[in-house]
Amino acid sequence: MLGACVNKHSTLEQIKENGILRAITRNSPATYFQDHNGNTGFEYELVKLFADDIGVKLEIKTANNLDNLFSQLGKPNGPVIAAAGLVSSEQRAQQVLFSYPYLEVTPQIIYRHGQPRPTNLVDLAGKTIMALKGSTHAEQLAKLKKQNPAIEYEESDVAEVVDLLNMVDNGQIDLTLLDSNEVAMNQVYFPNIRVAFDLGNASNQSWAVVPGDDNSLLNEINKYLAKMEKNGTLKRLKDRYYGHVDVLGCVGAYTFAQHLQQRLPKYEKHFRAYAKDKNIDWRLLAAIGYQESLWQPTVTSKTGVRGLMMLTKNTAQAMGVSNRLDAKQSIMGGAKYLTKIKNKLDSDIAEPDRTWFALAAYNVGIGHLEDARMLAKKTGLNANKWLDVRQMLPRLSQKQWYSQTRYGYARGGEPVHFVANIQRYYDILTWVTKPHPDKREIIKGNLRILDIHKDMLQKDSQ
Ligand code: GLU
Repeated sequence: MLGACVNKHSTLEQIKENGILRAITRNSPATYFQDHNGNTGFEYELVKLFADDIGVKLEIKTANNLDNLFSQLGKPNGPVIAAAGLVSSEQRAQQVLFSYPYLEVTPQIIYRHGQPRPTNLVDLAGKTIMALKGSTHAEQLAKLKKQNPAIEYEESDVAEVVDLLNMVDNGQIDLTLLDSNEVAMNQVYFPNIRVAFDLGNASNQSWAVVPGDDNSLLNEINKYLAKMEKNGTLKRLKDRYYGHVDVLGCVGAYTFAQHLQQRLPKYEKHFRAYAKDKNIDWRLLAAIGYQESLWQPTVTSKTGVRGLMMLTKNTAQAMGVSNRLDAKQSIMGGAKYLTKIKNKLDSDIAEPDRTWFALAAYNVGIGHLEDARMLAKKTGLNANKWLDVRQMLPRLSQKQWYSQTRYGYARGGEPVHFVANIQRYYDILTWVTKPHPDKREIIKGNLRILDIHKDMLQKDSQ
């Protein structure tokens, strides 16, 4: 009787009263990591927005492995939500509740380029296979082993996705099994990895919560995810993190890794200096330089643009560049020009869209960009959102559309690729130069690219 009179607060009310949402995740490029601005990653952004949405602070921590993640979930004063690229499975459904899905992924068998490509389950026998401990992939492999005992696999409780890929890449293990989003995103860091085949059908990633005596938190999460789907936020996040992952492809990834090692160090100091001068991120400036010239200071195009940042004669003159083939001057000119464009953009355009608009204008000119924004408005889209204006840009090469504009015909598809490529290079540069609070990846994973860029990391922490 007395119990019925006690005013028991729902899980959601308790979170709101405490003012803190405790979440747990994994430290990987697709989920959560630290970059120059602090916390980042698809899961991090999505869960941070949820905390904002319910008006509380986010407290996020990382688990060493998936078993550890699930065992911490729901502990007194522990995390109440796991946002970690999790796929629901029968086994997990006995312990936790899963939210609405927000990302479709496919489990993929990964092998090393140069080795015979496994094409079916029979080919897995006799190979060394490793998966994350406690992952859905380990569950999948356990089932397969029951059907075919010749399949051997190991579960690692210390490895993260990057470590498994690293081990395949350097030949320590033959195969691993991972979600497609992680594979695509990491391809560039591990040039030798290849997808052998999809192991089963697509599944969905979602957040996990502990079943309580009420479903208040889960209901709120589902309401929030539906809202994010409807208002385009989820689409924007997916585009930002996964939309451009295949820009490079396998060959491009390999080349980029080489250029990162051989070319970037020669120009890094100039990127840093002029970016600092203009208050932009040096990695963005370096990403533009890579897109423009693959970090080659003496290239010249048929259209007359030249140098590392591929400036036109007029732009170079306006920016005070006397020799476009001088890398330092070219970078200075590029930084100045980018800033000039950025300042010219409509003040209603907020970051990060502002940066993407500035890049598009760097490539196609601000007049054409304004035309595309006008077309977006006309079509009922948001002229201040890159995702919306991006759809309009290719129309500038179709007469029915460009005839309605002020500046007329433009090769509007180009700035779309231009921005996507730069976003990709920027992301990679951010990841390889990120601060490593726990130095985990470097020590244990022996990641080649991270090793190459130890000097960058050191400079960044200075
Ligand atoms: N999605 C996997 C899981 O839910 C973890 C990430 C991965 O192995 O790619 O277990």
